[in-house]
Amino acid sequence: MAQADIGLIGLGVMGANLALNIADKGYHVAVYNRTQSRTEAFAAAAGPLSDRITATATLEDFVAAIKPPRPVIIMVQAGDPVDEQIAALKPLLQDSDIIIDAGNANFRDTMRRFENLKGNGPGFVGMGVSGGAEGARHGPSIMVGGAEADWRRIEPVLTAISAKYKGEPCAAWLGDNGAGHFVKTIHNGIEYADMQMIAEVYGVMRDHLNMDAVSIASVFSVWASGPLDSYLIDITAEVLKTHDLASGKPLVDVIVDAAGQKGTGRWSVIESQMMGVPATAIEAAVAARSLSAMRGERAAAEHRFGLPAIVDRREGQAVIDDLEQALLAGKIAAYAQGFAVMAAASKEFDWNLPMATIARIWRAGCIIRSRFLDEIAAAFSETPDVDNLAMTPAFSAMLEATDRPLRRVVSDAVINGLPAPALSNAVSYFDTYRRARGTANLIQAQRDFFGSHGFERFDADGEQHGPWGG
Ligand code: NAP
Repeated sequence: MAQADIGLIGLGVMGANLALNIADKGYHVAVYNRTQSRTEAFAAAAGPLSDRITATATLEDFVAAIKPPRPVIIMVQAGDPVDEQIAALKPLLQDSDIIIDAGNANFRDTMRRFENLKGNGPGFVGMGVSGGAEGARHGPSIMVGGAEADWRRIEPVLTAISAKYKGEPCAAWLGDNGAGHFVKTIHNGIEYADMQMIAEVYGVMRDHLNMDAVSIASVFSVWASGPLDSYLIDITAEVLKTHDLASGKPLVDVIVDAAGQKGTGRWSVIESQMMGVPATAIEAAVAARSLSAMRGERAAAEHRFGLPAIVDRREGQAVIDDLEQALLAGKIAAYAQGFAVMAAASKEFDWNLPMATIARIWRAGCIIRSRFLDEIAAAFSETPDVDNLAMTPAFSAMLEATDRPLRRVVSDAVINGLPAPALSNAVSYFDTYRRARGTANLIQAQRDFFGSHGFERFDADGEQHGPWGG
């Protein structure tokens, strides 16, 4: 058999689908998995694509099966397994080869791995992949970080396997070392916020408007062809109309209200805090997942306090329309924050992240794909140096149009005791961002009072101190 064009290690959910996608696009791929039975099962199920797949049982056979210079994708669990895999591969590879870590790595690990291998082994590329199993099989969104020359060598295969938006590949080189994994992290942070805000409006419909899952599904189905048109709205409608075969109830009603998390949402928040750029909608979403997991404590608290009485029930289509507009406003906050965090990271790590390109490669293949991202791509193309997405003409207009509905939805939620942490944070974020005269003058004074930290005055230069305590 001819030597493979590319190698792939890790035949779990993502790796197996990515390998089939590569073979589907006419490339010959060599595969290896730590547990050999998984490799055998994969090869046996590959069907007609097996002609372009070489299944190997040892790393030595794997490397020998690939044509040099070798691109080798690692798609294993993030963290130590990636370091172990690199250590095992390094002695077998040549400096002209390229290791591509396609898992959800922390970008700081990617930077470390990139630096360790620089001039001392094969090239190293950190590649964010989004789209789940289906995306990996038929076209994910691919965010690449590393040396541009390495990207140029792997670009044909990566663009071939990526999703396409109106024919344009959703794969791009975004910058040096950890840029790809950083952007994937923020993608996931935004995904957390997007999902949380959808769950919040679902909660209003379920617990305030007393709608059943099927009726809520119909609302999401209608929204799916409006400005909220997106994969997450589509799947939400699908999920809500699915019935459980065992109980006959809507499946969502028998699913436990506690969501897990693997780390990328938390990393987004940590990095945004480290750079001093607020990502409050993402923070609220991460915190909401943590609170969701505290089921016992929540049950005890409900037992102790009960639920607040419904004091003001607005009903009817006007409320549904407000929820749609509020979700749009909340999305603008989450994306504005996510892009602002990326802009700060771009400066800090000298990446020169291309914001319009990032929005473009998120338009298809990834979990947050939406019509909205096409509008973000257009906004950043027209005003590339804008400080905040909210200040672009298109999004300012959208914010003005959705401002009142967002306020009505959040005030209804607060007064009736319905949790809406991400949407409430969106309101607070805009209200703080749009107010030229804030209240931090008092905080400056307090800091100077107790810690002599000094303050600035409007009418004098330099650090000042107050005459506190007489
Ligand atoms: P998975 O189905 O759980 O498969 C994990 C893979 O990692 C298996 O091939 C496993 O090999 C291998 N592995 C684990 N520990 C290893 C070690 N110490 N040494 C060598 N191989 C090891 O995971 P997955 O969902 O495909 O995810 C793979 C990566 O993609 C992760 O970084 C994940 O965060 C990322 N990702 C996942 C998704 C998703 O939707 N699932 C989306 C984007 C990115 P064995 O068969 O030997 O256990």
